[in-house]
Amino acid sequence: MKNLLTTQDELSAGKTTLQDIVDQYIEQIEDSNGTVNAIVSVDKENARARAASIQKKIDHGRAGKLAGSVIAVKDVICEMGKQTTCASNILRNFESVYNATVIEKLAAEDALFLGRTNMDEFAMGSSTENTIFGPARNPHNTEYVTGGSSGGSAAAVAANMCGMSLGSDTGGSIRQPASYCGVVGLKPTYGRVSRYGLVAFASSFDCIGPFAHSVSDAAILLEHLAGVDPMDQSSADRPVEEYSSALQNREKLTIGVPDEFFGDGLDPEIRTIIKDQLSDLETEGHQLVPIHLPHSEFAVATYYILATAEASSNLARYDGIRYGHRADFDSVEEELKKEQIALEKRLEVAAGKEHEELVEKISKADSPLIRLYKKSRTEGFGTEVKRRILLGTYVLSAGYYDAYYGKAQRVRRLIKQDFEEAFQDVDVIVSPTAPTTAFKLGENQDDPLKMYLNDIYTISANLAGICGISVPAGTHSNGLPVGIQFLGNAFEEKNIVRAAHAIEQLHNR
Ligand code: GLN
Repeated sequence: MKNLLTTQDELSAGKTTLQDIVDQYIEQIEDSNGTVNAIVSVDKENARARAASIQKKIDHGRAGKLAGSVIAVKDVICEMGKQTTCASNILRNFESVYNATVIEKLAAEDALFLGRTNMDEFAMGSSTENTIFGPARNPHNTEYVTGGSSGGSAAAVAANMCGMSLGSDTGGSIRQPASYCGVVGLKPTYGRVSRYGLVAFASSFDCIGPFAHSVSDAAILLEHLAGVDPMDQSSADRPVEEYSSALQNREKLTIGVPDEFFGDGLDPEIRTIIKDQLSDLETEGHQLVPIHLPHSEFAVATYYILATAEASSNLARYDGIRYGHRADFDSVEEELKKEQIALEKRLEVAAGKEHEELVEKISKADSPLIRLYKKSRTEGFGTEVKRRILLGTYVLSAGYYDAYYGKAQRVRRLIKQDFEEAFQDVDVIVSPTAPTTAFKLGENQDDPLKMYLNDIYTISANLAGICGISVPAGTHSNGLPVGIQFLGNAFEEKNIVRAAHAIEQLHNR
């Protein structure tokens, strides 16, 4: 695959046109999306028109820095006039009325947006199976999942349906599918990229980031995604560095190797692949340092308390009134009437305690509005989203708040401190991206705990708010890609792209 800089050279030399490039991607989508199911909507007309107008700018030497990039966008990031469904029935027909800041920023540099990608509903999941569009399939073997929740964005790049894509990472949703699909995926530091226009899942974790074929493309895209935004108070007011120039920096890195990330549960073959890469890096002069992250064993539990708590509150806005799916009001009224008649019939013959209970039940019956909320949400949300809302509401409830939510906040701080200490001595921390390669479709569907454990190596970065990247490290004997992850301290994206680039170069030798 050609990287963006090569494509740009060819475009300015007149060796190809942006219209041709877009047509090739569209052809690829038409050929393979029927099986891979990475893309949920394509805007061919618009894309072709925009290609023509950007091509004109290229011809006149006036094109922006991302001219030549063709990008697919996870269906959780708002693009004006396009459907933003979050793969949920509750937003099935929702059309965004504004652009996310990232869309504005990339468009200003002449990026072209080709289509929207499949995902787990509201970004909750690790396989892109929790989706109204049907599961995405791994381009390396279509019996296997893409990973998730940004599985469509990872698979679209892997299957050459676009040059790059955008995803979101709340607990690993960029890095894990990047690893499963054999592409590069980067989660920036929390606050590095504006979240304005990203539909919220867990606001203190959510990050938008790039998928690409190469580290250099991911670095260039990040340069244009990053930056403070008055529309997002949690975005960081710090200068944006030239991540792509950092790749030229040949200084050796100090790489922390935490035993906690190489223990039980890790596929032995993945361990060998990662260890081999590390010894190659050592041969090249990079330094490996054993480190400890003592609280990492609590990361998954902590995340599933805090992220579900935030999700239960964020998802309260979907009430079927202002936008999104609304249950049929007539049937709601009919249902209530039937229930009332049934209760009153029972009341006529009831006595004693039963009578008292029925009187109370009747007095507490839903109003039509409350029942409309309930029914709209029952019909609108899928099973996993409902599970998260229930968990989140439970951990926030009066009697359990301190025991769960409060305690998890304190553990989050300890996990963050582990990283702060480790980064005093090392530039980056290395680990596998995921404990296994992609699993078979359906394999973990009935076992949410097993599904949650997929994120064991990615989640701590979101708890600590630091950055991470997954880059292809090799191929498993089962034929599926294996990713290696580098974590960097907050706002040290330069270091992780350099480390990932070093791995990429081992493979290009
Ligand atoms: N798999 C994790 C979850 O289900 C992470 C999701 C994400 O990063 N959006 O919550």
